[in-house]
Amino acid sequence: MEQTFIMIKPDGVQRGLIGEIISRFEKKGFYLKGLKLMSVERSFAEKHYADLSSKPFFPGLVEYIISGPVVAMVWEGKDVVLTGRKIIGATKPSEATPGTIRGDFAVEVGRNVIHGSDSVESARKEIALWFPEGIAEWRSNLHPWIYE
Ligand code: ADP
Ligand code: MG
Repeated sequence: MEQTFIMIKPDGVQRGLIGEIISRFEKKGFYLKGLKLMSVERSFAEKHYADLSSKPFFPGLVEYIISGPVVAMVWEGKDVVLTGRKIIGATKPSEATPGTIRGDFAVEVGRNVIHGSDSVESARKEIALWFPEGIAEWRSNLHPWIYE
């Protein structure tokens, strides 16, 4: 079953949106397979966003991610990478549809509450980076009214 890496950014944590965000993924029919509240160091944030290191907003992005604790999660389910991105909404909150997390809870691209892997390949890399200790193995009993 497909997995994705989802991170509630420091603004989402400070604003008390953890429960709301987890609830949206749970209600959709996805399974929480890894979860931790943690603060990351600058070098770790730089590694996570290495692909964006040449962007002008990169230093600010790194400051943002290290500004407080984040919630790192692994979610599992059918097409969870793409569907997770849809639940999150567009990168720029002004372009994010109401009903998405960013569409409902954000106004600034630099304070857009949540991260989600953009492909199965980046999910694999990000899960390995954020959960080097691995993830507890348990087989979710796929809900028979959600999964056929
Ligand atoms: P996404 O998080 O939707 O995958 P990107 O991978 O393009 O978006 O960018 C990573 C993060 O960098 C964004 O979520 C946002 O926090 C920040 N970011 C992207 N573009 C900008 C920008 N133009 N100005 C400030 N921050 C930005
Ligand atoms: Mg991205």
